[in-house]
Amino acid sequence: MAPNYTDQLKAALEHVKQLFTDSEGKEVYRSVQVYYTQIIAAIQPFVGKRDFPVNVAKKFKSNMDPGLSSFFKQAYPQHTTVVPLESGLQLAALRAMLAAAQKAEENRKMISATAISAMNTQAFMLQGASTAGVNASQAERTIADFKKKDLACFGCDGPHMWSTQKPDKSYVVTCPSKDKPGVREKADAKIAEICTKRKGRKDREDKRKKDREDKRKKPKATANA
Ligand SMILES: [Zn+2]
Repeated sequence: MAPNYTDQLKAALEHVKQLFTDSEGKEVYRSVQVYYTQIIAAIQPFVGKRDFPVNVAKKFKSNMDPGLSSFFKQAYPQHTTVVPLESGLQLAALRAMLAAAQKAEENRKMISATAISAMNTQAFMLQGASTAGVNASQAERTIADFKKKDLACFGCDGPHMWSTQKPDKSYVVTCPSKDKPGVREKADAKIAEICTKRKGRKDREDKRKKDREDKRKKPKATANA
């Protein structure tokens, strides 16, 4: 009797998970690219067939890191569409899902970086999210809490940061409404306001510092005279 292809494929796919706990109880995260490559490897014996015996595209979604799925749904609006079993359609859907999942991965990295830079870094570390993206569920919870509290975008007042600071210290605008009319102008005005305030504070501090120094210098000058 021929081997049961469906069972074989199911078993092979069941082992391919993007986020899993290893034998030592450590949580392991595979990048989207690695995860995709492993799925493609698992389905190799069936790629030549007209139809796949199981819905691989569906498996790709269900075995994805659950912490990535909200980002994935954003990047892949057709995520609820059921892909027919025809291998060509399955492979096309998998390729589209790969691209969307990679975008999702990037977006999550960015929002994690935003949360880390915006929050008290130490508190974030203590909560266990030591590496952005690795402890994803923790990071997402922290971001969700943080969003609720006091995050207001300079441009649209939404619960996110107007911009994100990159590792090289430059800023990149990340507001999703940045191209809507008036939003950039509002953010620019807000940033200018903050800069003015900061400068005012710095000027006052500088003046106080100078006054103190002058006071210290004066008696000396008198004594030396
Ligand atoms: Zn915004």
